[in-house]
Amino acid sequence: MNPTAVANKEKILAVLYTAGKYAKEQPKLLGTIENKLGIKDWLESQGHEYIVTDDKEGPNSEFQKHIKDATCVITTPFHPAYLTRDVMNKADKLKIAITAGVGSDHIDLNAANERKITVAEVTGSNVVAVAEHVLMTILNLVRNFVPAHEQIMRGEWDVAQVARNSYDLEGKVVGTIGAGRIGYRVLQRLKPFDCKELLYFDYQALPKDAADAVGVRRVDDLKDFLSQCDIVTVNAPLHEGTHHLINDDTIKSMKPGSWLINTARGAICDAAAVKRAMASGHINGYGGDVWDTQPAPADHPLRSAFNTMGGGNAMTAHISGTSLDSQERYANGVKEILDNYFNKKEQNPANLIVTDGQYASKAYGKR
Ligand code: NAD
Repeated sequence: MNPTAVANKEKILAVLYTAGKYAKEQPKLLGTIENKLGIKDWLESQGHEYIVTDDKEGPNSEFQKHIKDATCVITTPFHPAYLTRDVMNKADKLKIAITAGVGSDHIDLNAANERKITVAEVTGSNVVAVAEHVLMTILNLVRNFVPAHEQIMRGEWDVAQVARNSYDLEGKVVGTIGAGRIGYRVLQRLKPFDCKELLYFDYQALPKDAADAVGVRRVDDLKDFLSQCDIVTVNAPLHEGTHHLINDDTIKSMKPGSWLINTARGAICDAAAVKRAMASGHINGYGGDVWDTQPAPADHPLRSAFNTMGGGNAMTAHISGTSLDSQERYANGVKEILDNYFNKKEQNPANLIVTDGQYASKAYGKR
């Protein structure tokens, strides 16, 4: 054991999801309380204390108990432990909050700035997995796959019941809110489908060569953008400027019969408004994997949101960015961020969300 490291003993707290029996069956499930991001031995061999829990809710949770003297906290968007201003006020020793994955909206970034707590995420670690999930969900909704599959599982055979609401992706206008790492990968994957047009809405413009490579057109006004799209995919972070960006009012601008896909963050779309718009027939389908509360309660409105034909729901639990390939990348990324922190090495700038009391990323709203 390195004696210098013991002298600088850190307390690292990780809040991860539970895998139970699946953790043994599949050791690549690294982002779980059982497999502990694969860094337990590495941390403990350096004399650090490593606490891993899934217990995250309320003042008596293991999360809030251990945050009081933790120097580093690792959280994940899949099972978010909310690092609110109040929780941060209890965390006197906290220096760095690492997101195992991408998306740090579960952390009060303004409060982290005031406290000079660094917030870092493993940028890019799961962007391919999410982009693939978006494509899968678009096709699921447009082709009306879920009702078609459910019918087969029920032992039935009724082609017309499904075909009455099944379309081609070719010839449709598809737009992304947010054209960053995921949004751009979605556009790249859509290109071979010969859509009528690809659009994006983002306050940061794509470089011209990147936009030309996929043939995407930028639309500056959200309502104008929504009114042109048959399919809208949300790929922006959740922040003050995107909370309930899709609501009763903005939904009015969407084309009747259009589809909405949200794999970014649940709270970007007002779930009750989406459910109403599906029931009225204005939105033909909604899909994605993110919820405004996670785990989503059994009576969450999006569990029972359907279009007028009883279909159009392509929701899953928060799985898109936690493919096994992604887990390997974000586990390695967390280790690298910790190693840089322990050894006072410069962090990869792309991983920094806030540092030294300032936003380091331009993705969390116009500042
Ligand atoms: P990124 O930083 O590369 O891109 C985000 C883009 O969104 C940026 O171009 C930014 O300018 C834009 N944006 C921000 N606010 C906007 C607004 N008000 N309107 C329009 N555009 C806006 O991030 P990324 O890697 O593409 O990830 C995007 C988000 O996807 C993450 O923040 C996270 O919330 C979510 N995500 C979800 C999963 C999952 O498992 N479901 C996994 C990874 C990321």
